[in-house]
Amino acid sequence: MKKLPLVIPLIRFKMIPKTLFIFATVLLLFSCSSVKIIQKPVTMNEERKQLSLEYLETRYGLVQEEPTITPKMIVVHWTVIPTLEKSFEAFNPSKLPNWRPEIANASALNVAAQFLVDQDGTVYSLLPETYLARHVIGLNHCAIGIENVGGTGDKELTKAQLKSNIKLINYLKMKYPKIEYVIGHLEYTNFEDHELWLEKDDAYRTEKTDPGVDFINTIRKKTSKHNWKPVPEKIN
Ligand SMILES: [Zn+2]
Repeated sequence: MKKLPLVIPLIRFKMIPKTLFIFATVLLLFSCSSVKIIQKPVTMNEERKQLSLEYLETRYGLVQEEPTITPKMIVVHWTVIPTLEKSFEAFNPSKLPNWRPEIANASALNVAAQFLVDQDGTVYSLLPETYLARHVIGLNHCAIGIENVGGTGDKELTKAQLKSNIKLINYLKMKYPKIEYVIGHLEYTNFEDHELWLEKDDAYRTEKTDPGVDFINTIRKKTSKHNWKPVPEKIN
């Protein structure tokens, strides 16, 4: 019985390398799967707030004190714009620039997304995750947007972007368990008869092909552990 106090420290000592090994493995796995997000906020001013509140009210009939959203889906995009800085410049002002007359009648709020992913996979946060961004007709009140730099011509979306989108989506689903859909912008009109669809004007639509069928299908496949709800069938 007297030897017992000696035995316990020995057992403990033997356990240290094993514990360290497990700890290091967990740390390694965590660092491989976690996503690094760099803050690169777009202009946040009173104008953005007012235009966002106005958007929620006129497009969706939602009267709110703050332009916040309840995330229930993630919408993946490409910017077509070939560089990070030019993409950022497009989203930065609160007010829609003159070169977007086709959507100006619906609202003067500029287009944006909560996240922007560069061609090398670096993830930038442009807006708080639950702050309204104008990126998808009908669904902005519940959709977090991920924009990817490039997408067409010699700036096709990259493997690094794909990996970062997957990590970012895993992170968002963990943070907002009520997210049930991950869709490509090209699929947004499939939600026209869905309970989440709030756009009031049946004539306000734009044709979308981003981020490409393969890109969004691969993302859904690689994040299928979250059991996403299927995108509704298109009703014509
Ligand atoms: Zn888009």
